Amino acid sequence: MVKLTFYGGVDEIGGNKVLVEDGAHRLFLDFGFPYKGYKLFYEEYLKPRGGAGLLDPLALGLLPPLEGLYRSDLATPGLWEQFRHLPLYRELGDVDGVLLSHAHLDHSGYISLLHEGIPVYATAMTAFISKAMQDSGRSDFDQQVCYFSPTTFQCPNGWKQEACVADPKASRKQRQFRIGDLEPENLHQEATTFWTQGFWEKTPQQKALQSSPLTGHHACPLNLRCFPVDHSILGASAWAVETNSGWVVYSGDLRLHGKRAALTQTFADEAAQLRPKALILEGTNVLRDTNATEEELHQNARRAIADSSGLVIADFSARDVDRLLTFLDIARETNRKLAILPKDAYLLKTVQLLQPEVPAAEDDSLVIYQDTVASRHPSLWMRNICEEYGSKVVLASDVGSAQDEFILCFSFFDLNELPSIRPKPGSLYLYSSSEPHDEEQEIDFRRLHAWLTHFNLKGLGLPVETAQGWQIPEDGRGLHASGHACGPDLLMIARRIQPEVLIPVHTEHAEFYAQQLGDTGIRVILPTAGGTIEI
Ligand SMILES: [Zn+2]
Repeated sequence: MVKLTFYGGVDEIGGNKVLVEDGAHRLFLDFGFPYKGYKLFYEEYLKPRGGAGLLDPLALGLLPPLEGLYRSDLATPGLWEQFRHLPLYRELGDVDGVLLSHAHLDHSGYISLLHEGIPVYATAMTAFISKAMQDSGRSDFDQQVCYFSPTTFQCPNGWKQEACVADPKASRKQRQFRIGDLEPENLHQEATTFWTQGFWEKTPQQKALQSSPLTGHHACPLNLRCFPVDHSILGASAWAVETNSGWVVYSGDLRLHGKRAALTQTFADEAAQLRPKALILEGTNVLRDTNATEEELHQNARRAIADSSGLVIADFSARDVDRLLTFLDIARETNRKLAILPKDAYLLKTVQLLQPEVPAAEDDSLVIYQDTVASRHPSLWMRNICEEYGSKVVLASDVGSAQDEFILCFSFFDLNELPSIRPKPGSLYLYSSSEPHDEEQEIDFRRLHAWLTHFNLKGLGLPVETAQGWQIPEDGRGLHASGHACGPDLLMIARRIQPEVLIPVHTEHAEFYAQQLGDTGIRVILPTAGGTIEI
């Protein structure tokens, strides 16, 4: 009997954490950050206390109370006594690994808190993007997926309250990543060096990294298969694990309407050949009948940008390299340059290590927008990127004085640059991302509209508030291709794989599968939060 326990991803989009137990072997399918629960309690200025270690996420039910699973340096004295009475409390024996589906934090984020002895299985691209995101992003204790700074429990200087304090002398520790889609020994030297050291020589200001070289996935005691799939981030994969009850297949997040749709098709065909016992399938967009494709978006956005006489701001997730390349093509087609941020240039440089055909910031149509900072010491990675591509750096004044020559890759959080740029009449804000999912995002959208009105920018593809909720006006449709397959595509995948049992995750409409698959012989079992399904 194999047990599947759902510690996240139930009635929520993201936060996936599924424990697979087969005899003495245990694997997690993703270990994601639970945005839905987190936002119930926290916001930008109210966060879990890093100094309290595991206490805050455990006390608020954001992390399952599984003793033995987490980093011991984050366990404050007496921590577990407080949680042993909880119904979900368990002392968990050794875990053989986490099968990580992709580098979005709602799938990877809480790996930060796992015991460092637990290996992470991922594609090479997922490992590299996770590192790039951490190198160039926030360093909060619950976002340290690839490496972390060990803490010790002590009184900070001049303080009476003891806390988990980062040890200034300790090296950062890198997690063990095991690669599912290639043999790490075939990686070229530059790629290996990026993983173990970084792009540039360490400087005295930088903390040492106790590196953990990439290894292959064959070390796993259970038989694994890794299937690349198409999603809104490169490197996404589905996984299958062979158990005593048969193969258990896990989709991660996927779609059939992106540039790499063929990968998802191949996954469905090959997973079907395993005749799986169970398929754990995402259902983010089950209620949608169709999705705009990346190609439709390309055509629609090109037309709108060609008609625009001023500055164009394109708002999309630059972590989605396929989307960035779509806008790079549009920039070439409309005689503009695509201005990306230093963190986007860092990501492209990383992706190029594994996919040399992806252009980096040297590309003639790419430039790097350098924003205004207030510190004499901007982050080292940022300085290094701007020095390396020195001739490609543009400033607000360059963009402001030649507005019809640029497409600026900005998001909502970069709008504070507009007072330096001063968009001219006829400028366009093209929104190519998802609609607001929660109240906080709705408030951000109201602010976004205020910025556009103030600077006289025309918004296109932007959801507006109506009596029926937030909706994209007719003339702005087809400017975003979702990362998730629509209902008919998901049903097609389920029918093609034809598992004995289908368990929906990463959805608020799990019942959809039970309603739609009645005639297929596939038994749909709906998971419950923290509940176990035996197969
Ligand atoms: Zn995702």
